[in-house]
Order: sequence, then C-alpha cells, then structure tokens
Amino acid sequence: MEKLYDLIIIGGGPSGMTAGIYAGRGGYKTIIIEKLGTGGQMMLTDIIDNFPGFPDGITGYELQDKMHRQVKKFGSEIVYDEIIKISKEDNIFKVESKNSIYRSLAIILALGAKHKPLNVKGEKEFLSKGVSYCATCDGPFFRGKSIAVIGGGDTALTEAIFLSKFAKKVFIVHRRDRFRAVQSLVNSAKKITNIEFVFNSVVQEIKGEEFVKSIILKENDNIKELPINGVFILVGLEPNTDFIDLPILDENRYIITDEKMMTPIKGIFACGDVRANSFRQIVTACGDGALAYHYACEYIDEIKGNKY
Ligand code: NAP
Repeated sequence: MEKLYDLIIIGGGPSGMTAGIYAGRGGYKTIIIEKLGTGGQMMLTDIIDNFPGFPDGITGYELQDKMHRQVKKFGSEIVYDEIIKISKEDNIFKVESKNSIYRSLAIILALGAKHKPLNVKGEKEFLSKGVSYCATCDGPFFRGKSIAVIGGGDTALTEAIFLSKFAKKVFIVHRRDRFRAVQSLVNSAKKITNIEFVFNSVVQEIKGEEFVKSIILKENDNIKELPINGVFILVGLEPNTDFIDLPILDENRYIITDEKMMTPIKGIFACGDVRANSFRQIVTACGDGALAYHYACEYIDEIKGNKY
C-alpha cells in the first residue's frame, strides 16, 4: 500500500521548496517530488542580486542549497521522480510516475518554466555545438570567443553580463529598439566594454560547420551576417505543463489560480513561474509557495475535520 501524504508538492524550485519548508514546519506529512534536482531556474543563474537579505548577491547554487537544507530541517521529504499523471479518487489524489504511485489529500503544482526556443534554422542542429540556453552551464566554454545573446529581458541582460567575464565580445541581439529588462541591468551592461547592443535585429538563421560560425540577422530591411562562436538563446519562458491533462490551464498552458493559489480543481494549488500572471521572480515564487501552503493546509484541515 502506498503512503498517504497530506501534501504532495510537484517541483523543487524556490516556490515548491518554500511550500515544503512551511508544510514541514507546520507538521503536515509532505513530499516534494522533483524531476531533476532542486533549485529550478536558480541553478541556471550565476548571481542573484535582488533576493532580499543578500546585499552582496548570492549565487543560484548557494540559494538553492540553503533552501534545500531548510526543507530537510523541517522534515518534508524530497524524492527525484518524474510525474506523468494526476487523478482524483474520492477525496484522495493519485500522482503517478512510471514506477511509483503517491497519494495525498492536496497537491501543490510548483512546476516552473523552461527556456523558450527561438525556432530558427540551425538552432536544433547546433545545440551544444555553439547553441545554448544556459550561460551558467556553458559560459566557461566560450573563453576568449565572440558570442551573441538573443533576447531583451532580465535573463538576457543578466546572463550577458555574466558571459562578458569569459567572452572576448558579447553582442546582445534584441528585436526592438529598447530592452524589456530592468534599467539597472541595462545600465550595468552599458558600462561593460566588451558588450555591444544590436537593436532592431531578428535572427533568421544560425550557421556553421561543425560548430556555430555566424548568425544571419534581419535589421529593418537589411540582411547581415554576424560572425560569432556561440549563441545563447534567452527569449523568455514556457511552462513545464506538458504532462498536465486537467482543465486548469490557460491558452498558453500556464496554470490558472485564484487569489488563494487554488486551481479550478479543488485541492490542487499552484505557485511560482508556472502560474498564469505571475511576476516570475524568485521572491514572488517564494511568496506564492507560502500562500499555496497556507490555503492547501486549510483545505487539508477541512477534510480532516481539524480546521482551527
Ligand atoms: P521575458 O521577460 O519574457 O523577456 C523575453 C525577451 O525575449 C523579450 O525582450 C522579448 O522581446 C524577447 N523575445 C521573445 N521571443 C522572441 C523571439 N521569438 N525572437 C526574439 N526575441 C524574442 O523573459 P526573461 O528575460 O527570461 O524573464 C522571464 C521572467 O523572469 C521575467 O519576469 C523576468 O523579470 C524574470 N527574471 C528576473 C530576474 C531578476 O530579477 N534577477 C532575472 C531573470 C529573469 P520583446 O521585448 O520584444 O517582447
């Protein structure tokens, strides 16, 4: 017979781990089921400089490590498994992976989001041969080389600044004439001598032989070829909801929640980047996680007849 948990949290990024810290501390029998490793997108980030309490910044790895240890300290379990199905029988949720079944009274979906592809010719062909979606993972391979960062949001600017420490030259290629990123990041990037902004430019193709050699850009009506050795594609996120087959998604496959983080299915809550209309910051992911815990446990108490 499988164990019955009070709460199953699917996803071990900052929102899932925050919910896990609160739920363990609150005495609820809780398990976090994470596909790969805890930390989510924090693990793809070099320095996080806007998480309160760390005035000198903190690396993504260190912040996830501290959260992970805090989850363990308060007693929530963490397992590594890939969930493929969620269903409900009476008041009990059944959460299935290929080899295991987990059951609980409530679920928090903290599934996070992943980098969006650019969908241009050469992107798939040169993956790991110059095309990357993770500066922290692959940046050091581009020491002394020229690279292009595609995108104009906080991620593109943050990672371009990180990459400028290794690369000889970093071109930030953005499709508009101004960045979506917060001004402080733009100001920091402007001060770095080996970063150059390339505005109003849309990538048409990534070219190379064994490895990437150039990108073809369309700038207004002109086509030009920019010689580079690497391309970091950082053009936003898409939610990790591929396996979700429940009526809780919006048209972009983000999870719909109310102000209590409850999805349209009673007993299923969601938090963090996977939630529709989320601000998608680590601090808001943590805030979402705390709220999801609060209302999920209120729901659990109601089922158990323990409501305070
Ligand atoms: P984002 O804010 O959605 O920005 C995506 C950027 O990529 C935009 O500039 C967008 O251009 C561009 N883009 C999208 N599709 C494109 C395409 N097909 N071709 C070319 N360019 C394309 O995504 P993000 O930067 O990954 O950030 C995601 C969330 O995480 C945001 O809420 C962000 O604030 C947050 N974040 C926060 C921090 C931090 O606080 N330290 C760090 C990283 C990320 P347009 O501007 O023209 O739409």
